[in-house]
Amino acid sequence: MSKHKKAVIIGAGVGGIATAVFLSQKGYEVEVFEKNANPGGRCGQLIQDGHRFDLGATILLMPSIYREVFNALGLDMDKELETTSLEPVYKLFFSDGSDFDFTRSTNQMKTQLETIEKGSAEQYDRYIAEGYNFFHQSMNGLLNRNFNHVFQFINLQSIILLIRLKTWKKHTNYIKRFFKDSRLQKAFTFQNIYVGQNPYKQPAFFSMLPAAEIIEGALFPKVGMHSVVESLLSKAIELGVKFHFKKPVEKIISDTTKVNGIQLENGEIVLADLVIENADLPYVYNHLLPESKISNRLKKKEYSCSAIVFHWGVDKVYSQLNHHSIFLNDPYKQGMEKIFNEKTLSENPSFYIHAPVRTDKSAAPENQDTLSIIVPAPQLDSTGKQDWQKLKQMARDGVIQRLKYIGMTDIEEHIKFELCFTPKTFENYCNVTNGSVFGSLSHTIFQMGYFRPHNQHHKYKNFYFVGGSTHPGNGIPLVLLSAKLTSEKIINNDMMFNISKF
Ligand SMILES: Cc1cc2nc3c(=O)[nH]c(=O)nc-3n(C[C@H](O)[C@H](O)[C@H](O)COP(=O)(O)OP(=O)(O)OC[C@H]3O[C@@H](n4cnc5c(N)ncnc54)[C@H](O)[C@@H]3O)c2cc1C
Repeated sequence: MSKHKKAVIIGAGVGGIATAVFLSQKGYEVEVFEKNANPGGRCGQLIQDGHRFDLGATILLMPSIYREVFNALGLDMDKELETTSLEPVYKLFFSDGSDFDFTRSTNQMKTQLETIEKGSAEQYDRYIAEGYNFFHQSMNGLLNRNFNHVFQFINLQSIILLIRLKTWKKHTNYIKRFFKDSRLQKAFTFQNIYVGQNPYKQPAFFSMLPAAEIIEGALFPKVGMHSVVESLLSKAIELGVKFHFKKPVEKIISDTTKVNGIQLENGEIVLADLVIENADLPYVYNHLLPESKISNRLKKKEYSCSAIVFHWGVDKVYSQLNHHSIFLNDPYKQGMEKIFNEKTLSENPSFYIHAPVRTDKSAAPENQDTLSIIVPAPQLDSTGKQDWQKLKQMARDGVIQRLKYIGMTDIEEHIKFELCFTPKTFENYCNVTNGSVFGSLSHTIFQMGYFRPHNQHHKYKNFYFVGGSTHPGNGIPLVLLSAKLTSEKIINNDMMFNISKF
């Protein structure tokens, strides 16, 4: 098919690049404008002194979704990414000094469970089966489909689905049906944080996350998560997509019913038949579009939490750490309340460490380590009361103290260099509202499905959205689905209006 209709995409994150491939395959002429020097956004990469860091995403979860979308893009995910299925998926560390392998080996998992709590092995089977059932039901009814009008969501079928998904039940209450031991309750609910949520506040159907980890595994691409970006990028370039880096977009050019193109920060104007926005949706309404009631409404929505991330180049390898290690520290529940309610941090925060050298030696110089420490943190608070220097120091001190407790007593002496991303850094780096990197809009039930901002603008019918802040949600698997759903919508709309150029 000859390339006729011109599409401009703002942002070269996973969502933007995947959409570029979908549209280019269908004959669109596609150009992508990215403000940063490199592609990937929150799935970016940084290399310093031979240490390679994934800047955001580190876990390839729900590989079935990657396979589905890669397949639709004409790519074989397993060949492209050369993944390893991690075993155990991760190691959990608790404040009482105990640890727990979150393993896919049924025997090992059940032996560990029974040692902690008699009868829990049987409950585990039920919990995982039900969680994976939630995954399938929400994929079919909620996530992997476009909602074009409200009655596709508010109908008897959807109400039954929302009941089946136990959307009214908090995950931390639901887990009590299965496990009494507080460590097990945490081990199977903390995953809500992957999508920036408080497990004490958000619904039970997010048990689909641990269930998918056990059933489908958590994979690691050969050279880290950035290879997802590289694979999509080379396909896009092969199809003729043009990428422009260090080209921030300042404004969407519109008239009353449609958009006509974009204006770059350097004043250049690029005209297009359609514009697709991969940058954060609330940011776009607040900065790139004329002010509207929607920008004000978006300010009142619920936003996900953020993170303080330390990247350390370390001149020693610590055997205490797994590829993924998660420290769930006491007082745990108060720690969540500090982040989500008080918009601050506890002195002993929970955190996660990515140590890729255990699977991929090329991530650091020989006998050295590359560590990324992700400390869930509050979103940026508009009152300006947060002291980020202080919070960053608190997070760092808490991490170091906790690591000393597992025998990494000399860690401070072995950190060769440190790079730190605070919520403010993330806000500047990717233009994510409030630095809410796991959303930005939170995944409450009233901000999902039909209620999440749609992937087509209500007034400018040739203006579309793709990425974590639109439907179906955040995290690379959902962002890939977003690219598929938005592209389907664009293509269907163009076919429907029988645009002669197409
Ligand atoms: C610390 C952290 C850990 C994470 N861990 C995981 C994980 O383990 N697994 C997982 O699946 N997900 C994880 N995620 C989430 C995942 O990284 C995101 O869901 C995903 O990368 C978002 O992709 P996107 O395309 O929607 O947006 P983005 O990656 O934010 O891309 C948007 C792009 O638009 C560009 N842009 C913005 N404004 C403009 C402008 N005005 N002009 C031009 N360009 C602009 C930005 O620079 C950016 O490159 C993590 C995220 C973080 C931050």
